[in-house]
Amino acid sequence: MDFDDNYIRRRSYVSRRQKQRRRQRNLSIFLIILVIIAILSACIYFFIIKKQGEYFIDPVVSSQESLPKPSDPESIHLATEPASESDEHPLLAKAKALADGYDYDGAIELLRSDAAYADDPVIKEAIAAYEETKSTLVRIDPTEVTHVFFHTLIMDNAKAFDGDHDSDGYNQVMTTKSEFLKILEQMYERGYVLVKMHDLAYETIDENGKPKFVTGDILLPPDKKAFVMSQDDVCYYEYMEGDGFATRMIVGEDGKPTCEMILDDGSVSVGSYDLVPLLEDFIAEHPDFSYKGARAVIAFTGYQGILGYRTDPEYKDSNPNYEEDCQTAREVAQCLRDNGWELASHSWGHINMTDRDLASVKTDADKWEARVESLIGETDIILYPFGADIGDWRLYNTENEKFNYLYNLGFRYFCNVDGSPHWVQIGDTFMRQGRRNLDGYRMYYDLPETNPEKTYLDDLFDVSTVFDPDRPTPVPKM
Ligand SMILES: [Zn+2]
Repeated sequence: MDFDDNYIRRRSYVSRRQKQRRRQRNLSIFLIILVIIAILSACIYFFIIKKQGEYFIDPVVSSQESLPKPSDPESIHLATEPASESDEHPLLAKAKALADGYDYDGAIELLRSDAAYADDPVIKEAIAAYEETKSTLVRIDPTEVTHVFFHTLIMDNAKAFDGDHDSDGYNQVMTTKSEFLKILEQMYERGYVLVKMHDLAYETIDENGKPKFVTGDILLPPDKKAFVMSQDDVCYYEYMEGDGFATRMIVGEDGKPTCEMILDDGSVSVGSYDLVPLLEDFIAEHPDFSYKGARAVIAFTGYQGILGYRTDPEYKDSNPNYEEDCQTAREVAQCLRDNGWELASHSWGHINMTDRDLASVKTDADKWEARVESLIGETDIILYPFGADIGDWRLYNTENEKFNYLYNLGFRYFCNVDGSPHWVQIGDTFMRQGRRNLDGYRMYYDLPETNPEKTYLDDLFDVSTVFDPDRPTPVPKM
C-alpha cells in the first residue's frame, strides 16, 4: 500500500468517525428537546389542573366564593323566583310557624337572630309585617274564657247506638266523630283559638316569698277568642270494647300520639280514632287554631288503667303484659306532654268529691298519685268526675279540708261543670274553671225543635248542623 492509499484510507476513516459523532450529537440535541417539551407540557398541564383545583377540589372554598351572599337582594330575587319565599328561607318558614301560633315576639326575635340576614329586604319586610300585626293584638280577659269538654269520641255510630245496655249512656255523654269535626270547623270559623289553662293564670312568688296566682297575658288578634278544651276518662274502659271506640293510644310513627282500633275482622288499625289525633290533624291543617302550641287537657281515672293499657296494680295477675303496658303508657303520656297536651287527674275511682267524706277523698287521691301520677308524671290539674266540686261558688279557703289535701298534693287548677259560657275564678293560690259538656244530651236539648228557648251553645256553633242524625232520639233524660 502506498501513501495515497493510506491517506485515502485515513481520510475515509476520519470522515466516518466525524459523521458518526455528528449523528450522535444530533440525537442528543433531539433527546434534550424532547425532554424540554415533556417538562414544559407537564408544567402547563399541572398549572391548568391547579387552577381548576381552586374551583373543584375544595367545595367549601368554592361555595363561599362562587355563591351569592344572602344579603345580595338581586341573588335572592333570582333564587326565590320559582319557589315561595319560605321554601327558600328556612328562617322565614320557622318564623311563620311561630306567628301562626300567635308567637309574634318569637317570630321577630328569630328573624333578627341571624346577622347574615340583617340587611335582607325580605326578612326586613317580614319583621315589619309581624310588628304591625303585633300592634293590633288585644289582651284577652282570662276570666271570660270558655272551656269545653268531651269524652271518648264515638268512631262507629252503628256499634255505639246498637240498642244494647250501654247505648243510652253513649247517646247522653259521648260525642260522635262527625259532631266533633263539625264543632272544630265551626269554632275555628268563628275565631276560636285553643289556649292552655297554664297560660290563663299561673303561680308565681310574690314579694314576701309566698306563692301567688297571677293572670296570664294572652294576646290575640281582635277577631279571635280564646277557649280551653279537655277530654275526660281517656282510659278506654273495658265496657267500651266492641262498641265503636278506639282501643288504646300509641305513639305514631311520626312521633305524635295516635290511636289503635280493632276492626270487624279482628285486625288492629292505627289511625285518628279519637279526639287526640283528630285535633292534631286539625291543627296541622289550621295552625292558627292553637295559641303557642296549646292542645287539650287529657284526664285519667286509674281503676282500669290509662290510655287503654291495664296498668292498675289490680291487673298484675290478669294482664300478661303488665310491666310492658306500664312502660308503654309512660311513653304515650310523655309523647302527649311533648306535643303540648296537658295531663290531669279525674280521680282514681271516678268518685263524687262533693258527696264523699274527707277520708275517702284522701284515699282516692293517694291511689291516684301512687298508681297514675307515677306513670304520667306530676300534674296540677284536677277535673272533677260528674263536675262534682269540693266547694260552692265562693273562693276556696284553708278551712276546706278537701281543698287543703288536694292542694298539698300539688293541685292548683280545679274544674267543675257549668253550663254558662264562662266561669273562671282566680284565687291567690289556685284557679277554678267551669266546663261545658258538648255531648248528645246537651246538644239534643239545645236543638231549636226540642227546646226553642235554649241557646246554651249558640256562642260556639250551630247545633242543628252539628247534631248527628245517627243518634236515636229523644236522647234519654239524665
Ligand atoms: Zn268522667
